[in-house]
Amino acid sequence: MIGNMMFQPLLISSLIEHAVIYHADTAIISKNTDGSITHSSWGQIARNSKRFANVLQSFGFTVSDRIATLAWNNHRHLETWYGISGSGLICHTINPRLFPEQLTYIINDANDKTLIFDKTFLNLVLSIKKTLPYVEYFICLDGYDEKIQTAFPEVLFYDELIEGQSADFEWPELDESKASSLCYTSGTTGHPKGVLYSHRSTVLHSYATCLPDSFNFSAQDRILPVVPMFHVNAWGTPYAAAMAGCSMVLPGPMLDGESLVQLIDEYQVTNALGVPTIWQGLLTAARNSGSQLKSLQRNVVGGAACPPSMAQAFKDEFQCETIHAWGMTETSPVGVINQLKAKHLELDESEQFQLRFSQGRPPFGVNIRICGQENSNDELPRNGHATGHLQIKGHWIVESYFNQFSHALTEDGWFDTGDMATINQDGYMAISDRSKDLIKSGGEWISSVELENIAIAHPEVDMVAVIAAVHPKWDERPVLIAKKSASSQITEDKILAFFTDKIAKWQIPDKVIFVDSIPVGGTGKVLKKDLREVYGSVLLAKE
Ligand code: AMP
Repeated sequence: MIGNMMFQPLLISSLIEHAVIYHADTAIISKNTDGSITHSSWGQIARNSKRFANVLQSFGFTVSDRIATLAWNNHRHLETWYGISGSGLICHTINPRLFPEQLTYIINDANDKTLIFDKTFLNLVLSIKKTLPYVEYFICLDGYDEKIQTAFPEVLFYDELIEGQSADFEWPELDESKASSLCYTSGTTGHPKGVLYSHRSTVLHSYATCLPDSFNFSAQDRILPVVPMFHVNAWGTPYAAAMAGCSMVLPGPMLDGESLVQLIDEYQVTNALGVPTIWQGLLTAARNSGSQLKSLQRNVVGGAACPPSMAQAFKDEFQCETIHAWGMTETSPVGVINQLKAKHLELDESEQFQLRFSQGRPPFGVNIRICGQENSNDELPRNGHATGHLQIKGHWIVESYFNQFSHALTEDGWFDTGDMATINQDGYMAISDRSKDLIKSGGEWISSVELENIAIAHPEVDMVAVIAAVHPKWDERPVLIAKKSASSQITEDKILAFFTDKIAKWQIPDKVIFVDSIPVGGTGKVLKKDLREVYGSVLLAKE
């Protein structure tokens, strides 16, 4: 017997419809690329998203066509998001910090039909546009600009496009399992891989992230997603905010501590979200300016481990509660969030604080386990000590990668995250290491393998290894360990210069260390763990 309740598909358009009916006058404050501020509202965002949906329809796109965005967090970007996904197309957010060749690969792999970009990225788009045969329309996310038009004659301007359009648009009643958005993750080897989210996964993820034991969003909040909309959909916050009726401050391109402190104070932000590097800059700027960050009740730290000293500083100096969370592109991204249980309130403050260092426990809808071997099902005990390969399953976890037909799961249906972790008896997960050796620099991945592949091509080196060294500002930076070929007089500068034009500038190692031999294990693999133990702090002495 089937229940007698209504069925309504879980659609992204239902989020913006909810926001326009119940939170139309709730403010969306947006910093533009030129630093000016636009005051909008959920009502205005909803109307413009429908105008843009009409534009897309006039272009003749069909359901599931991909529309790419290369843009900062701002109101126009938000409007395009809802316009694209709401009308049944797939919103492909792209990280502009990737090297041009990676951008070309991603845009072509996704078969993007339109590329929407912020003014800031004009030169980048001009430099790759010839390599993008499938892109039919280029849209500058701004008003008309003569200089841009001259440099790029075929470009269209967003404000002009939506100006004459009707704000009436009937959102299609799609199957909730249809794809809504696409993000690429970088792999250890080979090309980045696409993760294709669905309307259903996005809406369920929004329900979960709004919960009090998650990001704790409410209609009394004004949230500041510092995490970019191209980094796993800003952790889903633009969707969750529409669901909860939060006001939002969208910070545009200026993510330095001073700009963020100013936005928080001026617009009374209650909850902000970002990676640890962002918070480091913000703490320094707040101390320097004497700001008390009075309105800020909570901040969510994820993307990399939150240093305990950072959470302590927010608590002691700014009376702000830090919420540590873990996730990845493949998990939409929220996998676990650290909030205490009632029984923990009886513990003393230092014990509570200790508990909050771990990444946290899953909300309903997600399950985690640790296993002895990668991709296996030999589950290890949840005792807080056993360390294993972290696996996850749930409503918003990837099943297979875009354009790849094989499943990304273990035989019994779990996704192996590539992280190493412990889980305690209460389900709190703590990341202990990564099974991969990727380097996380300021919230961005750098592939050590990619750097090694370049370095080893130099004729005067025999063997190389790239490790992640701890960095005071960027969390981690790459350090190249190299064994010179016999009689070579090669210098550090010359090796570093060898990376130029082969990889994005920010991915070039910070330092080269020459050694007589590089340790290898039984299977002939470089023992990076040993190298990290010896050289992992080499950059700390520098600054
Ligand atoms: P990405 O897909 O680029 O968001 O990267 C996901 C990876 O970032 C995870 O697999 C972890 O290795 C790392 N990560 C994310 N959040 C945390 C955290 N809170 N603590 C430690 N590592 C994290």
